[in-house]
Amino acid sequence: MKSIFSITRSKLEEYFLSIGEKKFKATQVFEWIYRKGVRSFDDMTNLSKDTISKLKEDFEFNELELIIKQEDELVKKYLFELKDGHRIESVLMEHDYGYSICISSQIGCNMGCAFCQSGRLKKIRNLEVDEMLLQIMSVEKDLGERISHVVIMGIGEPFDNYDNFMDFIRIVTDPYSLAIGQRHITVSTCGIVPKIREFADESTGVNLAISLHAPNNDLRSKIMKINNAYKIEEIIDAIKYYLDKTNRRVTFEYILLKDVNDTEKCAKELCSLLKGINCYVNLIPYNETENIEFKRSSSSQIGAFYDILKKNNINVTIRKEFGSNVSAACGQLRAENIKGE
Ligand code: SAH
Repeated sequence: MKSIFSITRSKLEEYFLSIGEKKFKATQVFEWIYRKGVRSFDDMTNLSKDTISKLKEDFEFNELELIIKQEDELVKKYLFELKDGHRIESVLMEHDYGYSICISSQIGCNMGCAFCQSGRLKKIRNLEVDEMLLQIMSVEKDLGERISHVVIMGIGEPFDNYDNFMDFIRIVTDPYSLAIGQRHITVSTCGIVPKIREFADESTGVNLAISLHAPNNDLRSKIMKINNAYKIEEIIDAIKYYLDKTNRRVTFEYILLKDVNDTEKCAKELCSLLKGINCYVNLIPYNETENIEFKRSSSSQIGAFYDILKKNNINVTIRKEFGSNVSAACGQLRAENIKGE
């Protein structure tokens, strides 16, 4: 049976039309579920008995099972179990502007980035729309507060699960659902070029981040398998297309790996690559993980890299660090608590 949390309002409208009902019922159902927190069709008192029994035949209310919660001062990490026994993780961060949540988009990941823990555990399947949405709703319930910002930067490659990802965005931003502002949402991709273009065409207002991590193809291909499929020039072209379409500044993420991509030469190369592009660079101090040989760059090296970008008028920030005490590096909590995979 289909989860009621997996359907967008416009698809629910189509559903009502297909069973000979008025489409405004979709909005009523959304109000019951997301505004009033109702968890049974029987409680939807403005729907007829017939409509209720039809909905019961076709949709179910499901939940994620919370397995582990780890807490630090500003970060909470959640491990959930899905219906089929697989486990996924979500991370909640407290900022001065509110809460943001980092959600997973797949079970495992096939992108195979050399430095990333998630990629060591191969993709088992895509997450369904409800499994993405319920990460937010379950954490909000646990927290007793509203989450204002969402990043799709957890385990998985969202653009490798594009259709579910887009329906998830449609529900999360729906004023009758969680109503999270498009500009409060950021999706991060390792650079699946055709999907960057498709995403540009959607003109959503959702922020786009690209995991670049290297300023040239030689180096990028060594640490990111996806670079064999889509070269840096193709990514830059797709980004220019995105900027033309949306006029929204793009973020480039750049993990600093000691003696790999953190040299002065790399910094200068990055400046020439990004010159004139409406973007900002988020430098990420690498979270070292077990069994992976890469090391974090020293603070002075990170500072030197930052200075070169600044001097070249590139907008740049160094990512604030959260939760290295609570297995916060991508995929760590899941990797430590996996069942039979
Ligand atoms: N697949 C998407 C989103 C998930 S990864 C993407 O590649 O963007 C989210 C971000 O975390 C990416 O920029 C990824 O490169 C980075 N990341 C992965 N492992 C990391 C680690 N150990 N330390 C710091 N950042 C890491």
